[in-house]
Order: sequence, then C-alpha cells, then structure tokens
Amino acid sequence: MAQPGTAGRPTREAVIDLDAVRHNVRRLRELTGVAELIVVVKADAYGHGAVPVARAAVEAGADRLGVADISEGLALRAAGITAPVLVWLHGPDADFGSALAADLDLALSSEAQLAQVIAAAAAHGTQAPVVQFKLETGLSRNGAAEAEWPALFAAAAAAERAGLVRVDGLFSHVSNTSSEEDAAAAARFQRGVALARAAGLAPRVLHLAASAAALGEPELRYDAVRIGLAVYGLSPFEPDAPADRTADAFGLRPVMTLRASVAAVRRVEPGTGVSYNYSYRTDRPTTLALVPLGYADGIPRSASNTGPVVINGHRYRVCGRIAMDQFVVDVGDDEVTVGDDAVLFGDPATGAPRVEEWADAAGTINYELVTRIGQRVVRTPRSAS
Ligand SMILES: *Cc1c(COP(=O)(O)O)cnc(C)c1O
Repeated sequence: MAQPGTAGRPTREAVIDLDAVRHNVRRLRELTGVAELIVVVKADAYGHGAVPVARAAVEAGADRLGVADISEGLALRAAGITAPVLVWLHGPDADFGSALAADLDLALSSEAQLAQVIAAAAAHGTQAPVVQFKLETGLSRNGAAEAEWPALFAAAAAAERAGLVRVDGLFSHVSNTSSEEDAAAAARFQRGVALARAAGLAPRVLHLAASAAALGEPELRYDAVRIGLAVYGLSPFEPDAPADRTADAFGLRPVMTLRASVAAVRRVEPGTGVSYNYSYRTDRPTTLALVPLGYADGIPRSASNTGPVVINGHRYRVCGRIAMDQFVVDVGDDEVTVGDDAVLFGDPATGAPRVEEWADAAGTINYELVTRIGQRVVRTPRSAS
C-alpha cells in the first residue's frame, strides 16, 4: 500500500504551524478586545521556536512580545525583530546596559533594579529608559512587595522628574487559584496603582492577565494581556474544566505537531519482553515498531506504557519503558514500515492525539510537554501563506 512517506523529513520533528499562530493571535485579539496584545515567546516560544513564532505573531498584529530573560530579548533583536519586547525576570547578573542598547522594555521588580537601570543608562549614554514595574500581588514570586511600594514609587517619581527614567506601565500576575483569589490580587494591584499615581507617576498601561485570566476573567483584562499558552493553541484550563474552556471552544488551533519516522519494525513471538525492565511483554505474535524519541527529546519517561501514538491513522500506546532516545509501540498485526510517520501529538482535527493526553499520562500539564521538547528535535516552521 502506498504510504504518505516521510522520505526527506527529519527523523525527529516538531512541525510548527505558523498559520495557526497567526490565526490564534487574531482570535485572541477578538476574544479579549484589549488595546495591547503582548505575545509571550519566552523559553524559545514554549519550545516552538522563538524567532519564527515572534515574526508570525507580529504579522498577525501582536503589539508587543514578552520574554523572561534579557538574553531572550537580545536573541529576538539579533534575528532582526524590531517589535517592542517586554522583559521581566532579572537575576543578579542582568545586563541592563545591553538591554537598553537593544531597546528592550525593562520590567523591574525593585528599587535596586531601578537604580541599576538608571546607572546603566548613564554609563551607556542612553536616553531616559522607559520601564514598567512588576508588583507582587500574591504569587510570592518576583515583583515589588506592597511594603516596598512607597519607597519604589517615590524614587521613581523623583527619577522621572530628573529626566532619568519614564514609568510607562504597572503590572502583576495572578495565581489562577480561584476567581476570589484573583480578585483579591486585582484589588491589591489597584492599591498599587493608586499609590503610584499619588506619588506622581502616570503609568499608561496596566496589565494583570496571562492566558487563563485573559480568557476566563474578563474583568482582569485592563489595558493589555500577556498571552503565552493560548497563542500555541492550547487551553490553560485543566482538562476536566467545563467544555466551554477547551482550546476548541475558544477557536484556537494547536501549533505544534510532534512526529518521528519509525526507525525499525520487527515481528516477535508471544512473551517477548520490551525495553528496560520488561514492564511490557507481548501476549501474542505481534509487530513492534521503534519510535526514535525518548526522554532526551522531552518525552516524559513517566508516560511509559501509556502515552498515545498514531501511526498510519491507527492509534496505539507506548509499550514498555520510554528510554533516552526511543520507545516501542506494539502495533499488533497492522502493517507498519520503516519510515512511516508516528505522531505523538498535534491538532486533534487531523486525527493526532492531544498534547493533554501526554500531559495526563505523565502527570503534568500541556505547558510542560511542549516546552521541554529537546534540542535534537528539528523544528520545522510551516506556512501555507
Ligand atoms: C509566562 C508568563 C505569562 C504567559 O503565561 P501563559 O499562561 O502562558 O499565558 C504571562 N506573564 C508572565 C509574567 C509570565 O511569566
């Protein structure tokens, strides 16, 4: 039988549908109606490839990109991306001088960081940097804590008056614990905004929501939303959330298809052990297909004996342990040939398993599955347009 065949395709491949990125960005604009859509491309665009995803997002109307680290922002600039980029997580070695030289928008979490940025601007002869402040409102992560707000805002207002800095925005991030908890975080955020204004600051843009709040809590949208996961066509809500909270219900299309070419096929006898520790033994004469993806490629070992795989339109499960480079699928009496396409996850509209099935099998979330896909897996950006 003629197979679609995978000749010429990389053995291990994550196909990145840039049309789906563009579609999702436009859809998220429609769904949220915000003035400013910040598309989050940190962690190599959640494993999808930051540069092509960022370009597609900007083409589709993203107003700004968001990343965690300055180095991620610098990589976007090095690729020629000129859109505004907000950067919000700075370690003690943060290179604010390079960030300012590359025109990255710095989000700061403390008075100490503000002083460092002002000093870096002076040292590099840059104009007054435009910054935002991240306020800590209940996640217990980065951001300035409420007790630090008066001194931070006073220092910032003084620096603004001296022409050393301009505070363009204030933002925070919520825990998604419950609408009540998120509302409490929003109330604390409002106290921060009021305090900043009373200190003489005039932040132009306020934002609180990432994917979950942007889609689930309209009152938290403010002037901008920072959306990561939903841009990749995945839902931030638990798989057992109400049916109106799936990616499908939001009209989002999964961007990543993870596939590999079957590397070996063998016919075996009943009682044949499979992979380390024989956690699987065949119970009949059967065919085993070898899929060259393993935990080095980000396939969670904890999904051994459970993760779903589609080969030639038929659905199977991993059998035996997932190893570093490979796992085995028991395909019974179905005909499978070396080079056939094994699809681990993708757009369910194409018959692919959902990434959430892998996440469930591994006891984790869709965010982690796509983000941890390893470097050996070739990212192939695709566009019909
Ligand atoms: C990662 C991150 C986001 C994006 O979160 P999603 O849930 O993927 O939309 C937004 N804001 C901040 C501060 C983040 O760290």
